Amino acid sequence: MRIIVIGGGVIGATSATWLAKAGHSVELVEQEPEGGQGVSAGNGGQLSYAYVEPLAGPDLWAKFPAILLGLDSAVRIRPRFSRDALSWTAAFLAQCFGPRQRAALSDLLHLAAESRAAMAELLAEAALDFDHGQRGKLILYRDQRSLDGAGALAEIKRAHGFKIEVLDRARCLALDPALGGYGNDFAGGVYAPQDESGDCGKFTRALLAHVKDRLGVEVHTSTRVLRLNASNGRICGIDLTNGTRMADAVVLAAGIDAPRLAATIGLDLPIQPVKGYSITAPARAAAPQVSLTDRGEKIVFARLADRLRAAAFADLDGWSPAVKPDRAVALQALVRKLFPDGADWDRAAPVWAGQRPMTPSGRPLIGASGRPGLYLNAGHGGLGWTLACGAAKRLAAMISTG
Ligand SMILES: Cc1cc2nc3c(=O)[nH]c(=O)nc-3n(C[C@H](O)[C@H](O)[C@H](O)COP(=O)(O)OP(=O)(O)OC[C@H]3O[C@@H](n4cnc5c(N)ncnc54)[C@H](O)[C@@H]3O)c2cc1C
Repeated sequence: MRIIVIGGGVIGATSATWLAKAGHSVELVEQEPEGGQGVSAGNGGQLSYAYVEPLAGPDLWAKFPAILLGLDSAVRIRPRFSRDALSWTAAFLAQCFGPRQRAALSDLLHLAAESRAAMAELLAEAALDFDHGQRGKLILYRDQRSLDGAGALAEIKRAHGFKIEVLDRARCLALDPALGGYGNDFAGGVYAPQDESGDCGKFTRALLAHVKDRLGVEVHTSTRVLRLNASNGRICGIDLTNGTRMADAVVLAAGIDAPRLAATIGLDLPIQPVKGYSITAPARAAAPQVSLTDRGEKIVFARLADRLRAAAFADLDGWSPAVKPDRAVALQALVRKLFPDGADWDRAAPVWAGQRPMTPSGRPLIGASGRPGLYLNAGHGGLGWTLACGAAKRLAAMISTG
């Protein structure tokens, strides 16, 4: 089949890869001068296969009053009164109940396991340079009660085939002595030795170069899709600023722009932006080697070769992609408090912001859209780097088998 993929982020690039591997003739269209520039550019860098908890869950529900009053430092919700935002928020809150979150978690763990295997398959075929780290991930818990709660969750993850170790404080320090300089107290952590890290933007660009050279994917950059093109109820191509391109199928992998493009054919996608921030600085000797998540602060750290990246915050505050100065200042202060000697924060790159394309349940939309000829790989929220390879492989199998 001749297939057009809209979007050159990590989801579009991996979609194009697995579709080309399945023998399809693939064109990828990206509005920026190169791929990996959207939310894939500066994300937290964690391939956190064993930690795919959806944002909506009982913890968030318990904090909801404080969040609405603006008293939670990690999550910010500014109520918006459009029909889309209200119905999305209602569905998101409904997901906060335990059984729904557990069902979503189980689906995400399945996809994450597929993704880990698919990434290994890809890296055995292609030499991609993306500051790949394979030192595992440690989730820190501030007190014994929350660490014990995480122990129960660890059982669910082991049942999905993940290796998980619950470590007390001393074993965390033995695993990564850099934690001796950590600015917050912690009782222990949950360690996932098979989790990985890497620069998602670099990976995306390296993968696009690889599929162009080796698999014949046509990559059109600086090319903006205006709308989907339908004929007799079937999506048959795309309209660009400079013409039209026809195809047997179109894959919508346009990150946070997917709902706008879907709306051009009257299709509603339940995706809203959840903004997050990151900061990247030259690592020092006291930087952590393992990837870290601090559950209390809701911040992640990943070592990207000689750099340390920190990412935080989940702000449901509208469609503007701009960096809000108060959030940039808060992130700079937080990283200096938590790892004062971990990086040369004075030489950090400017604080970056990206919009997670989030569905209410945290499950991405993968596969048929309900409109003949249009397939989705969108709505990957805070996990798109982790889930990309598995989602792309699933999508290619769905399209290939009709
Ligand atoms: C602060 C933060 C930290 C994160 N940390 C992690 C993490 O540690 N691990 C993890 O797994 N995930 C993480 N994520 C989530 C992850 O970054 C996203 O889920 C993932 O990058 C989504 O990729 P995407 O390809 O769908 O979107 P994008 O990367 O935004 O790609 C979409 C592409 O489509 C293009 N496009 C859009 N509209 C058009 C158009 N009309 N015509 C042509 N091209 C178009 C855009 O230019 C863009 O390049 C984080 C996100 C944030 C914000």
